[in-house]
Amino acid sequence: MRKKTVMAIPEGNVITLQNVYKTYEQGVSALNGVSLDIKQGEFVFIVGETGSGKSTLIKLLLRELTATEGDVNVLGYDLGTIRRGRIPKFRRNLGIVFQDFRLLKDRNVYENVAFAQRIVLEPAANIRRNVSEVLAMVGLADKYKMKTSQLSGGEQQRVALARALVNRPLILLADEPTGNLDPEKSWEIMQLLEKVNEGGTTVIVVTHNQEIVDRMNKRVITMKMGSILSDVDMGGYEVED
Ligand code: ADP
Ligand code: MG
Repeated sequence: MRKKTVMAIPEGNVITLQNVYKTYEQGVSALNGVSLDIKQGEFVFIVGETGSGKSTLIKLLLRELTATEGDVNVLGYDLGTIRRGRIPKFRRNLGIVFQDFRLLKDRNVYENVAFAQRIVLEPAANIRRNVSEVLAMVGLADKYKMKTSQLSGGEQQRVALARALVNRPLILLADEPTGNLDPEKSWEIMQLLEKVNEGGTTVIVVTHNQEIVDRMNKRVITMKMGSILSDVDMGGYEVED
């Protein structure tokens, strides 16, 4: 596997937000002074009602968006001042999973995962081994030849997870990864995320799944109208409906 070079991480935090505001061009203010630290190896749930700013926060961490005000630091990169040319290198440290899987539907499972390795120019000789390893980890070793359109939702999300993990990210971000799955498949995905976390990866999961959050006993950050309402270690789900 490729060796990771990470810049100095301030005080062991892989993510630091200081007084972050995000106002969209149309004047919608999505984040209103968010500050938080996430340490290497943490598992963090982000919960909160629709529109509370969860996805905006994830997009800031990926440097898909920039903050209107305040500092966003991820893995020692100041995302307010990072040069455009360095963004791809920065992003290699991150894995991302979305609610809607976002797979290449006309390609098979193997190709969907191998694609992520080709983007980072992993030597061809390593790709087969890396893809096999990660497909085994998500329990899809025997389905590598299948088109993703032939898979169930739970299986598709496991392919998406394999794709997010194959480059060995330091941080895995998941924005409502179980939003399209039934409770049993949701639980399977969460168990996989926990396993990934146990391997040392920092995992951040946005979810509406109250039962899972209550059951897993992890740190829970609750957002409301662009602010952090609460941030509890080993917390439960606290969104008022
Ligand atoms: P959540 O993920 O918690 O549902 P979002 O971060 O998607 O919340 O949205 C926060 C607020 O920002 C909402 O009011 C939403 O309508 C608004 N918003 C999100 N994306 C955009 C955008 N691209 N342009 C304008 N407003 C947006
Ligand atoms: Mg969202």
